Amino acid sequence: MRILVTGGAGFIGSHLCERLLSEGHDVICLDNFFTGSKNNIIHLMDNHRFEVVRHDITQPILLEVDRIYNLACPASPIHYQYNPVKTTKTSVMGTINMLGLAKRVKARILQASTSEVYGDPQVHPQTEEYWGNVNPIGIRSCYDEGKRVAETLMMDYHRQNNVDIRIIRIFNTYGPRMAENDGRVVSNFVLQALRNQDITVYGDGSQTRSFCFVSDLVEGMIRMMENDRGFIGPVNLGNPGEFTMIELAQKVIGLTGSASKIVFAELPQDDPKQRQPDIRVAREVLEWEPTVQLDEGLRMAIAYFRKAVSTSI
Ligand code: NAD
Ligand code: UDP
Repeated sequence: MRILVTGGAGFIGSHLCERLLSEGHDVICLDNFFTGSKNNIIHLMDNHRFEVVRHDITQPILLEVDRIYNLACPASPIHYQYNPVKTTKTSVMGTINMLGLAKRVKARILQASTSEVYGDPQVHPQTEEYWGNVNPIGIRSCYDEGKRVAETLMMDYHRQNNVDIRIIRIFNTYGPRMAENDGRVVSNFVLQALRNQDITVYGDGSQTRSFCFVSDLVEGMIRMMENDRGFIGPVNLGNPGEFTMIELAQKVIGLTGSASKIVFAELPQDDPKQRQPDIRVAREVLEWEPTVQLDEGLRMAIAYFRKAVSTSI
């Protein structure tokens, strides 16, 4: 198949492109390189089935493809809050453009939605039926509400225009090629530990997250896109293992053998207190569940960042 991956030069997108190429598909990686990098895809450039298009999805584009994975959107709080208006435009105008493309060329489209649609959840663990608890006017809203509208658009193009859609809700995902400067917790803690700097735990560190290794996520994405049961989602994709940020910091210190100390810093506004996916739907319909547990995944992420740190010094 000819497959378009928007945001293909980003962290998750680059792993998805790699996997799709390994399965023999033609892959078009579309990216505006806001948070993505050519370094993430340089190893794919020699492959004649791989093409890169520098483009911003807030502008229309016409490409003849069979599948569209719509991942283009900054994902880390620092990056999506850098230009919040642009973040909303990317989710809303960008998703309209990609849905318009899907409609025109009759492609199937998968939207990378997020656990952030549940906001600061009052239901735990989060099931797909839960409508969420999202602040519409806070500093995370550009991302959360943008992604919620993107889901609405997906459903309305499906109901109104019969567009073949899939929606996944991704929970915190980590692994090699996370941007060093994106401020997300795994990259921050690992880099701080490798540099023997203080580990910055925000708030009292009792907030929880569930961390999915990127290869597990990519497997789930492809299963969702290609499921032939007509299941459109939304479906939660994440690892149900739930950890406090203190536990994560201690694990990272242990696995790196670092001399770093844990310090506490201010909790960002609207930081969700807990997050854990209920993945019963994914287990049942996609026969998918994560296989890489946190210690193993952290070892792989640490090995990547160790190399990145040593080459950047
Ligand atoms: P990332 O920042 O590494 O990747 C996003 C990519 O999209 C980058 O390459 C960036 O340059 C590109 N991009 C941003 N705006 C664009 C635009 N207007 N036009 C074209 N390209 C644009 O982030 P990621 O972690 O790889 O996330 C990928 C997708 O998965 C995002 O949609 C994100 O919301 C979603 N997601 C990620 C996580 C996670 O934990 N990583 C969790 C939930 C959802
Ligand atoms: N966090 C932290 N220290 C850091 C970066 C993040 O304690 O250096 C916390 C953050 O407050 C949040 C959790 O880690 O509670 C996950 O943050 P991240 O930005 O990775 O993702 P999100 O909040 O979007 O899940």
